[in-house]
Amino acid sequence: MSFFKTGKPFIIAGPCSAETREQVLATAAALVPINIDMFRAGVWKPRTKPGSFEGNGEQALQWLQEAKKLYNLKYTIEVAEPEHIELALKYEADAIWVGARTTVNPFHVQHLADALKGTGVPVMVKNPVNPDIELWEGAIERFLAAGLTDVAAIHRGFSGYSSAVGYRNQPNWPIPIELKRRRPELSIICDPSHISGKRNRIAEVSQKALDMHFDGLMIETHPTPDEAWTDARQQITPSQLKDILEKLVVRAEFT
Ligand code: PEP
Ligand code: MN
Repeated sequence: MSFFKTGKPFIIAGPCSAETREQVLATAAALVPINIDMFRAGVWKPRTKPGSFEGNGEQALQWLQEAKKLYNLKYTIEVAEPEHIELALKYEADAIWVGARTTVNPFHVQHLADALKGTGVPVMVKNPVNPDIELWEGAIERFLAAGLTDVAAIHRGFSGYSSAVGYRNQPNWPIPIELKRRRPELSIICDPSHISGKRNRIAEVSQKALDMHFDGLMIETHPTPDEAWTDARQQITPSQLKDILEKLVVRAEFT
């Protein structure tokens, strides 16, 4: 069984950004009883515009390692540079993911794949911001070619000029479905938070993903979402997450 295939939907939850030690530890403590598979938090945030919060870097990794030890909770972070991988390994991250703004750049992806060679670290590859399946699959191929076996895709939707249709990022469901058709062995995790952009659509998008045979969900969770430093409108509390997870209808093949 691979890292991401556990016999049930693989659930990743945690804040968009690791803001403070207290916020990281409080979120992790509240998620432990929900039995998630892995904690997430951004420690380097590739912001679209300059001048916004770009993450707490290495200090945040110390908080995440502390939460991991305290609560016996695996954790994952986004990496965008080979030095981020070095630090992720130093602070015992259990998996890493590549963000949508990094997947678009093949040279960048190759540098990350080279840095991961021989480590066996599980890696998740978010789709590029643009709806280009070849670029997404190409990034995945670079990690597979580096000898990594626990590789998953994350569907987080695609940028569009208008958000009038109600999503922050358009799901374009045929793209992840085609990726799954091409690579049946690949785990595909849906990120309903970045697709929805607002918390009231997360349950619906999560259910749709599971109905379409996705292997898991990554959902941004924060103790006080309205006060979040990044992505405030789409984050939910641990108790809202519990409620959503309890109501999800899970396909028979997972049982
Ligand atoms: C995130 O996961 O917080 C993030 C920045 O995501 P994306 O790369 O999908 O925009
Ligand atoms: Mn986010």
